[in-house]
Amino acid sequence: MQTINDVEIKGAIKRFGSNTVLDGINLEVKKGELLTLLGPSGCGKSTTLNLIAGFLDADEGDVYIKGNKVTNVPPYKRDLGMVFQTYSLFPHMTVYENLDFGLKLRKVAKSDKQKKISRALELVKMAGLENRYPRELSGGQRQRVAIARALVVEPELLLLDEPLSNLDAKLRHELRAEIKRLQKEIGVTTIFVTHDQEEALSMSDRVVVMNAGRIEQISSPTAIYNHPETEFVFQFIGKSN
Ligand code: ADP
Ligand code: MG
Repeated sequence: MQTINDVEIKGAIKRFGSNTVLDGINLEVKKGELLTLLGPSGCGKSTTLNLIAGFLDADEGDVYIKGNKVTNVPPYKRDLGMVFQTYSLFPHMTVYENLDFGLKLRKVAKSDKQKKISRALELVKMAGLENRYPRELSGGQRQRVAIARALVVEPELLLLDEPLSNLDAKLRHELRAEIKRLQKEIGVTTIFVTHDQEEALSMSDRVVVMNAGRIEQISSPTAIYNHPETEFVFQFIGKSN
């Protein structure tokens, strides 16, 4: 039996004007794995994520989710949750309303809503803070809520674009472990983006090292660390923050 990958990108090329920012990306994401896109700023990580989410279309090549080509399928129909580096929450809505917003688009029965929202907040250890506004939360708490909002719809796919980059080192470490635990607990296929090699190596099932719009290597963290296949990977992994 052939296994269908949760996500496949085949030959994706993306240009902004004369700038080719993705230059032939081929990628397969397996069901239930935590795959990390790792690379320096500007290498095309967010662009890749945005192709998967449907915020951008590739100029050439295709994206498949669960075996179906998703060209022209809008983001909200792609069954995914996404968390960004900053400004993920609506500032004028409480924690509860932020989570409720995502459910509104999906027409969840009222009786199920409360349950789903409570469960999502429990998962990120934010139960009891339903009535707070984002400004009344710390940076780490905000990102926890942003993750809960992505998860409340029980997506097939979770996309995390540098969700920890704006946090201090201690919180970053704490949330790393928590995201990993959560991801395994609910088994949601996850694509995590970071420019931090230590973060990538410590969290991922597999790491995709990107450089200037291309993929340099796709391997397990140990293989990336012990057997870099290109000079770029060797240099990038060896560099400490
Ligand atoms: P990363 O997330 O790895 O930092 P991005 O995917 O955001 O990189 O960007 C890759 C390249 O594409 C960068 O050179 C960036 O300046 C460029 N780019 C990204 N988005 C746009 C856009 N909307 N218009 C023009 N150039 C863009
Ligand atoms: Mg980015």
